[in-house]
Amino acid sequence: MGINFLPLAKDMRAWLMQRGSLPIASTTDQRAEGAYTNPYTFSGVSIALIMARVVNAFHQYTTQTSGHDEIDAEIERLRLYNEVVLYAARMCEVAIKQLLYCTQIPESRYERMALGALLESPCPSCKKENGKTPHPVSLVGSLAHPFHLCLEFDHCAMSHMDLVNKLRNSQAAHSGIQTLNFRSVEESKSQLMTDCDEVLTGFLHMLSHLEKLEERMLDDLAKKGEAIILLKLNGLPAEDCNFSLIPGESFTYESNPIHPQD
Ligand SMILES: [Zn+2]
Ligand SMILES: [Zn+2]
Ligand SMILES: [Zn+2]
Repeated sequence: MGINFLPLAKDMRAWLMQRGSLPIASTTDQRAEGAYTNPYTFSGVSIALIMARVVNAFHQYTTQTSGHDEIDAEIERLRLYNEVVLYAARMCEVAIKQLLYCTQIPESRYERMALGALLESPCPSCKKENGKTPHPVSLVGSLAHPFHLCLEFDHCAMSHMDLVNKLRNSQAAHSGIQTLNFRSVEESKSQLMTDCDEVLTGFLHMLSHLEKLEERMLDDLAKKGEAIILLKLNGLPAEDCNFSLIPGESFTYESNPIHPQD
């Protein structure tokens, strides 16, 4: 087990701040020898590239004159707003799952979770015990804990559920956000600008937490990699050790205590 993820949050954030480009990875890369085996790395790369197009479309639409009339402008406003919210949430979701995939947390626990549940869901162990009200747990918090980033995340002044609530509102059929409000094209565009700006500010904030986590995990794995190479150079055969590469825990090796009988 080596480094099995790309710093997607870091790359996405750099791109949004016009300081970098996004990675490209295809099925050819996925099939190549020594490729990442993390499925979320590949879907994450695609989601990042789609999100970049959505952001470009929104930016172009709000900053350039177009041949839209008042009705078109409102429909376009809703279309672009919904896409920005949807992809911002998907991007956070895949960046988190990509990191979770590198931990001992079984994939079955999070694979079907949307962003809201990744940020907060009832504790599965307590849920099983009858009569007990399960306390909320955060998988992002569990991910951050070994790196001492959990408190920073949990007690952050920004509301991390804000993006989740925006997504829920945009998906709710009764939501006022989905109502056409005919006015001048300029007004319609300026509303879109304000709304998307708010979404992207929250998104960039969430990415900054995830970027820190990516950085720490990469550092951690690089250090463990050095330790393993050192062990190998000192003549310890790899099959004699049980490598316990848990993110955030310092690398230890145990000589295999059970020797198979010949
Ligand atoms: Zn519990
Ligand atoms: Zn903690
Ligand atoms: Zn925060």
